[in-house]
Amino acid sequence: MRSLVLIGHGSHLNGESAVAAYRYAELIRARGLFDEVIEGYWKEEPSLRQVLKTTASTDVTVIPMFISEGYFTETVIPRELGLGHQGPVPPEGIARVIGGRTVRYTPPYGVHPGMADVIVARAREVLPELGPDGPADGVETALIVLGHGTTRNENSSRVIYENAARLRERGLFSEVHALFLDEEPRVTGWADLVRAPRVVVVPFFASEGWHTLETIPEELGLSGVVTPFPDTPHGPQQVHYARPVGTHAAVAEVILHLAEEARGAGGPGGDTERGHEAAWQAFLTLARRGARIGELLVTPELGVFEIRNALDEGRPGGDLMTLVTPEGVRDRVRFTDGGEHRPVHTLRSLPRGWRAVLNEADLRRAVHYTYPAVVEETYAHGCHALRPTPWATTARRQTGIYAKVQRAVPEQVERVAERVCGGCLRTRLWAGDRLTHSFLDGVPGGMPCAEACTFLVAEVREEVARKKAAAAS
Ligand code: SF4
Repeated sequence: MRSLVLIGHGSHLNGESAVAAYRYAELIRARGLFDEVIEGYWKEEPSLRQVLKTTASTDVTVIPMFISEGYFTETVIPRELGLGHQGPVPPEGIARVIGGRTVRYTPPYGVHPGMADVIVARAREVLPELGPDGPADGVETALIVLGHGTTRNENSSRVIYENAARLRERGLFSEVHALFLDEEPRVTGWADLVRAPRVVVVPFFASEGWHTLETIPEELGLSGVVTPFPDTPHGPQQVHYARPVGTHAAVAEVILHLAEEARGAGGPGGDTERGHEAAWQAFLTLARRGARIGELLVTPELGVFEIRNALDEGRPGGDLMTLVTPEGVRDRVRFTDGGEHRPVHTLRSLPRGWRAVLNEADLRRAVHYTYPAVVEETYAHGCHALRPTPWATTARRQTGIYAKVQRAVPEQVERVAERVCGGCLRTRLWAGDRLTHSFLDGVPGGMPCAEACTFLVAEVREEVARKKAAAAS
């Protein structure tokens, strides 16, 4: 049995941030090579601290969905997963045994040599003449691999140079240049540098966004996918502008390569993780009788299960939108009725107006999407196996912009927690609160919170910053 975990950054504010990881997880899931494909996030749920608990097997491969190495892939993700590793990750990844699971952690997909193929695939989309040996029409064509570039992270430019060198060797293009938005050599100087009459620009970016849709076209003076430049230092030239590499479906192949390389001669895989399975069996025993978990009502019906917001209990099914897949549930419960993003799923804001009809296997996945890690943590709490992490420990661990939460005094943390956690179903074990009954004992809102979530950490940081600003004024 094998589990694959894709780690994205996620966002406390923007619901679209998680979509890329979902999309690649779906593509890989459809291939059936792993028993499960799970997504985890820094700023959404399941969080980095929880995600390993949500995996069903003892053989777990974790891949950071980042375009380059850096602070998140080398510091934040390994730290939060509890890998006991900091710093660069070798190409074959690192392996650790954590809580009975063998966890393999790989470099981010963006640094894999297979990304050169993704660059070519993107180039081909805007230049169909590009054959296996170069442009079929014989027109000299240059390739620009365009990176963001930053003086703070030399890894982000290194991956651009490496890909440019690989593609130079392949000889598909008459010239291959590595250019950047924010460092030299800058893409704005392309016309002085590139001689070929045809130029393909492929942004080496993780996603479509402000840079790929606005900054780059503006800085280059592009008017669409193909822009003629009749008068450059090297004569008339034509620029073909491709979409970012990070959103190409071929990235799924790169992810699979990374996973295989991390396993090496890894054998047949692991076993079912016993604690995880026991938690879900406890949940299913409950579900077969009909249950409430948080705001969710689970009703068994002729061999399948119906789930809906408990506030919609009694409403005719025809009045509600009927969903039939766990992914449909996932996409519905990620937003409130008002359309606001829900980075913490146990906040009391589960949307209404829908129902899902699911078989038992899909019920598990739908409940995972609705309340990530809640079944596993609640069961562990019932077995006295969930260890709370006090606020001071969480704060001490923070780095980067969140390091300032270490300056928060207990009254500040409590004030913020009252506001944030007051709207959450979970009981703050990390603050010393006690949870005597859980939804597994028939108390729907009984769910433990073993550790302050990143949403709360971010709010405490805001509070510290506000106090400092007020003191200075
Ligand atoms: Fe909920 Fe507060 Fe725990 Fe975050 S820290 S999960 S808001 S109880």
